[in-house]
Amino acid sequence: MRAVIMHGPGDVRVEDVPAPELVEPTDAIIRVDAACICGSDLWPYRGISPLKRPSRMGHEYIGVVEQVGSEVRDIQVGDFVVGSFMASDNTCEICEAGYQSRCIHVVGMGSIGTQTEYARIPWADGTLVKVTGDITPERRRSLLAASDVLGTGWFAAVAAEAAPGKTVAVVGDGAVGLLGILAASQLGAERIIAMSRHADRQALARRFGATDIVEERGDAGVAAIKEMTGGYGAHSTIEAVGTQEAMEQAIRSTRAGGHVGFVGVSHGVSLDGQELFLSGIHLHGGPAPVRRFLPDLIDRIMNDQIDPGAVFDQTLSVDDAAEGYRAMDERCAIKVMLEF
Ligand SMILES: [Zn+2]
Repeated sequence: MRAVIMHGPGDVRVEDVPAPELVEPTDAIIRVDAACICGSDLWPYRGISPLKRPSRMGHEYIGVVEQVGSEVRDIQVGDFVVGSFMASDNTCEICEAGYQSRCIHVVGMGSIGTQTEYARIPWADGTLVKVTGDITPERRRSLLAASDVLGTGWFAAVAAEAAPGKTVAVVGDGAVGLLGILAASQLGAERIIAMSRHADRQALARRFGATDIVEERGDAGVAAIKEMTGGYGAHSTIEAVGTQEAMEQAIRSTRAGGHVGFVGVSHGVSLDGQELFLSGIHLHGGPAPVRRFLPDLIDRIMNDQIDPGAVFDQTLSVDDAAEGYRAMDERCAIKVMLEF
């Protein structure tokens, strides 16, 4: 079967590899219907997170169940499913508390790779959610978005406590930041300030519910947010980048007593203890427990209440994956969908 393999920075190839087999009795094998390229896949592509060996790529997926292990009860062959980028048992105490991405039995799907024709899904019952109803092309791409970027943006908005009456600032105009805007809007935020300097992303931000745009970044961006909020700063800030500058911008844009939801994969970020101490803010984030939100997100998608799939501005055959990586690296594409 075909699989996307990264050999090193800027070197993505589609190769023929053996199809996966069931390993644990709690596994399922799915035929991947569509996958996508994540902003976090760009860290190794850019050489910032070096790879030790050629690696299978991808952790987002929708698909049809082909095979289940002997202990799989709820998921059946033929089900159309969405799963999170982190496989989880969904029964341990951490999962029950809603933090499936830190399950004591967690398996990162990135270590398995889903930019492949078939993928093994550990903890099938705990990881996968069955979709019923008419899967139109629009709903299909939105379901794919739910696998990571929508779920991650949603968690960021929840962690930032976006709610009616609140002003939410969003640092980062990639797919996760944009869907954080959609989430904040769905959660009833009164004012949503997108921090972006790209016209196409600003337009999508507005479509998803942003009420204001700030083009400045760094100290100037913080000053702009303060000025727009009577000198206070935002109640809620979403950080969806993962760099030092973005994290500082998020923390400094937030008023005392406010909340920062940080979901950008942290790279080289170190926070000054005294600044953090004096800020008086709540910091909450990490790998999003997408599984917690999936049933609700799937309902909203199948009821056409939200259209998160609009973040996909390029769809390619998996054979052209290298072109997709290049487009996202050069920021010519917001998010690339790969079809099989
Ligand atoms: Zn668990």
